[in-house]
Amino acid sequence: MLKECIDHCGNHHKTCVGAVTSKLPFRVIDVGVDGCEPFLFETGELDGSYFTLSHCWGGMISQRTTTLNVDQYKQAIPLESLPATIRDAIILTRDLGIRYIWIDALCIVQDSPEDWETESAKMATIYGECRAMIAASRSSSSTAGIFHDRPKKHGFRIPDRVLETASCPVYATFTDLDLAEAQEASPLAKRGWTLQEAILPRAVIHFLDGSIVWECLAMRVFESGVYESLASSVTRGSSSLHRNSAGTEFSAADPEYQWLMLVEEYTRRQLTYESDKIKALSGIATAYGRDRSDFHVNGIWCGNQDQGIMWQAQARGPRFVGHCTTIEYKYRPDGSTDTKNVTEMMPRVTTGQSGVRRNADLESETDKPTQRTMVSMQLAPSWSWVSVDGPVVWKYGFHTGGVSLLINARLDPAPTKSYYFRFDCAVLFQAQVSRLEYSSDSDNFTAMGEDHQPHELQGVALEALPDVPKPCYLIWARVTQDENRASTDFGCLIVQSNDSPTGGVIECRRIGASWMDADAAALIRQKATSCGIKLL
Ligand SMILES: [Zn+2]
Repeated sequence: MLKECIDHCGNHHKTCVGAVTSKLPFRVIDVGVDGCEPFLFETGELDGSYFTLSHCWGGMISQRTTTLNVDQYKQAIPLESLPATIRDAIILTRDLGIRYIWIDALCIVQDSPEDWETESAKMATIYGECRAMIAASRSSSSTAGIFHDRPKKHGFRIPDRVLETASCPVYATFTDLDLAEAQEASPLAKRGWTLQEAILPRAVIHFLDGSIVWECLAMRVFESGVYESLASSVTRGSSSLHRNSAGTEFSAADPEYQWLMLVEEYTRRQLTYESDKIKALSGIATAYGRDRSDFHVNGIWCGNQDQGIMWQAQARGPRFVGHCTTIEYKYRPDGSTDTKNVTEMMPRVTTGQSGVRRNADLESETDKPTQRTMVSMQLAPSWSWVSVDGPVVWKYGFHTGGVSLLINARLDPAPTKSYYFRFDCAVLFQAQVSRLEYSSDSDNFTAMGEDHQPHELQGVALEALPDVPKPCYLIWARVTQDENRASTDFGCLIVQSNDSPTGGVIECRRIGASWMDADAAALIRQKATSCGIKLL
């Protein structure tokens, strides 16, 4: 079935043709033929056709390329020594007549930060140009293998007496597999690093609970024979983000919305190391930025910063408040134990150097750092979603439409390229601001209304507790009307000032957001005053 799909896709799909032959990644595994060992191949400028693998590491992979064995692996990688998922992927690639496969654990020298920096920057191309990606969706670790026994409910044998002419046993299977549902339920969909792998390739071979599924830009073919044409839904035009991931539906027509949706899904996924937070999204960011000639700073695009800063944290979590603590990592890339003092690391973490580099999404508790304090380190300024741990959302209605109330919003210093992390970048703007009082009893804020009465804020989502003696402010940031202009919503930021305002500018950090309807807003908005804001 898969061979037929590959042939049909290569011969008939105009939308997929870019994947048939492309420039090979710097290193690939030459899978060889039966009876020969695969080996690591440094490709030069060679063109070719290659697969990629998306898989959960599930702990440190024992057989991975390091500076010690890279030369040896160029001669041969003993197939039997490899963890089952990687071994299955190599055999499958071989059986499907594809010569090369790119697998992170083997094609990046895992204990070389330089190699990591170089190769992880190419993720958009590596996944975007592959012939197809093998998604080991069901496997929660590298030792689980790609192939699994099927649950009984997925098939039953049709009695021979019913099919008298059949020459072999015939099984019936259910064909109502919901691909999105099955994908979302799979271990692979829960890991941060695998989101970009799900979105960038033109074709994916899913190994799901009930079926193997071929999915390219033009068709979806289930093992049961069910065929779905996707031609009409390919509206992505020149977009390099080739597909929706399981939990995200978006169209290329609204790229700003597309990015915010991606971040929402991404922040629902798990990363073992916060220091990987935006690196694991870098392939998508590269592809997205290339399509739009835009760049991002701390995960927010310069072309859409007004909307970008209007996220809402799902939970109040650990937040950097001006000090750092020590993190002890159980693993370093070479497998040894190491303790990093984040305080020392911080000043250097300004342009994407995230200290400890790894692609491993280590799932089990024992694989996590042996000691990690709640307030670990700040990865970005408070205006960026990268600064909080856990899921963020953009409240519905603020995705599209809506008008920014921030005047002359700009990043300072003005960026000249994309920055994964840039601490010293502030958002400057002029805005209407209301003074807030925090009550720890009600765990809410009040603002003085025109009636000289305090009014509680509505729709408050705090990502950090206010530091009580410091003044808090509400920034009126965005307004949205529904189609019939029947209702109006205001989106506000809740900030805390570091010092008293100087020269009419309030220097502050974001601690939350608030959304309120026109009636609630009317009570307090008249008392707002205009001033300059420097959001750190
Ligand atoms: Zn195709």
